[in-house]
Amino acid sequence: MRHQLRPLPYKYDALEPYLSEELLRVHHDKHHQTYVDGLNAAEEKLGVAREDGDFSDIRAICEALAFNYSGHLLHSLYWTSMKPEGGKRPSGALAEQIARDFGRLEDLEAEFLAAANGVQGSGWAVLAWQLLGEKLVVLQAENHQNLVQWGVTPILVLDVWEHAYYLQYANSREDYTAGFFSVVNWEEAAKGFEGA
Ligand code: MN
Repeated sequence: MRHQLRPLPYKYDALEPYLSEELLRVHHDKHHQTYVDGLNAAEEKLGVAREDGDFSDIRAICEALAFNYSGHLLHSLYWTSMKPEGGKRPSGALAEQIARDFGRLEDLEAEFLAAANGVQGSGWAVLAWQLLGEKLVVLQAENHQNLVQWGVTPILVLDVWEHAYYLQYANSREDYTAGFFSVVNWEEAAKGFEGA
């Protein structure tokens, strides 16, 4: 099955003024599409390798799969991590788990934003459910796939690649990340948490 880019779950201008229409168009239609295309290309190469019984390029194929699959997954989750008129507080089981693992919501937000602002180069801040610890954790990812732990389910992510903000915020990553919780979609995060 070829991977496909799903439409943005809201209009391109729906997150203004936090994220401009132009920024979302380029980010979704161009950058996210690139990872989908890269993932399909890597899977095609794997198919050829299997047909030929020639796995001499397996390292490059695995690297391309990890990078592009992770990029596709994280971007898909990024779009639903935000919504127009978001920014309210989590409720229910997710709110209880946040209280257990972080204390106040503000404490989680501070750790999450510090992780986002502290990513070296291109990457992500990720709120995830950790399988063995049975707790929520804040992680960084470099590029899309480095620093990742096994057995964690991401439920809320923030893209801090320059392409996610440069058009609007130039090099001020902290100005961009500061607005994230004003549009955050805790309802969708709660669904991800319950699924995990
Ligand atoms: Mn991105």
